[in-house]
Amino acid sequence: MNTAIATDILDNSDTQSLSVACSAQVAFDNLTETVGTPTVADPKMRTSNVNVFYGEKQAIFDVSLDIGNNEVVAMIGPSGCGKSTFLRCLNRMNDTIPSCRVSGDMTLDGEDLYGSDLDPVLLRARVGMVFQKPNPFAKSIYDNVAYGPRIHGLSSNRAELDDIVVSSLKKAGLFDEVKDRLDAPGTSLSGGQQQRLCIARSIAVSPEVILMDEPCSALDPIATARIEELIDELRQNYAIAIVTHSMQQAARVSQRTAYFHLGKLVEVNATSDVFTNPQHELTENYITGRFG
Ligand code: ADP
Ligand code: MG
Repeated sequence: MNTAIATDILDNSDTQSLSVACSAQVAFDNLTETVGTPTVADPKMRTSNVNVFYGEKQAIFDVSLDIGNNEVVAMIGPSGCGKSTFLRCLNRMNDTIPSCRVSGDMTLDGEDLYGSDLDPVLLRARVGMVFQKPNPFAKSIYDNVAYGPRIHGLSSNRAELDDIVVSSLKKAGLFDEVKDRLDAPGTSLSGGQQQRLCIARSIAVSPEVILMDEPCSALDPIATARIEELIDELRQNYAIAIVTHSMQQAARVSQRTAYFHLGKLVEVNATSDVFTNPQHELTENYITGRFG
């Protein structure tokens, strides 16, 4: 069937979505360089020309993106576009996937993330990760938070450890709700509290960067609002990269937004610009809901 006949038998709205899809495909094929400003003046992490493969299949194509001090960078884009894969490069979590191969230059304060003198376990303390589904250990609230400081030897006695646990729970905005039951299992908390417990657990080892992969997608709106407030507070002390499928959330919590599409970083700019004045056709299609 030729295109003229195909177009004839489609109704008008289908014709429109066909033309949006065709034009988006052309825009994607022509995309060789990220639109906008992937670099910042004050980078905490810097990545350039990152490529990631799972076996033969390439999942990330030449992505370069900085994460600045005291900023929240939101990563958005259709499901499967490589947001989690890219995020996992930043603390070498992809090392744990046997088929996964990562190349490119990535640094933390100028130090090569993939250099032979950098221990991935220590790196993951400096660059913490919070996942989609809260995953507290089958331990008490106290021991969940004390776990990292214990294995990294961050305290020399119980009083010091208590201080770390209390201050981490406070920074995660959870202390007042749990102070009378620190011995209760972490899993006895509500979903939103469990996620704040996981944030306290990552804060307890004094990270420099916090990576969050859709941290609110399993939470109700009230718990989500609480985490979003917390992200804004944490920005004072940490560099944060958050993957979110919610454009509203990206707009509320981030200063810069990066739009990914089929493994390429299409556009990165100040969040307000991305949502009010997208530069690339693919970004515009996504934020206006025509695509993804
Ligand atoms: P997103 O987080 O944007 O939804 P992902 O990073 O999870 O995207 O996936 C990007 C691409 O890489 C997808 O095509 C996905 O199927 C593939 N992928 C992700 N994880 C693995 C894995 N462990 N093994 C093989 N392929 C994977
Ligand atoms: Mg993902």
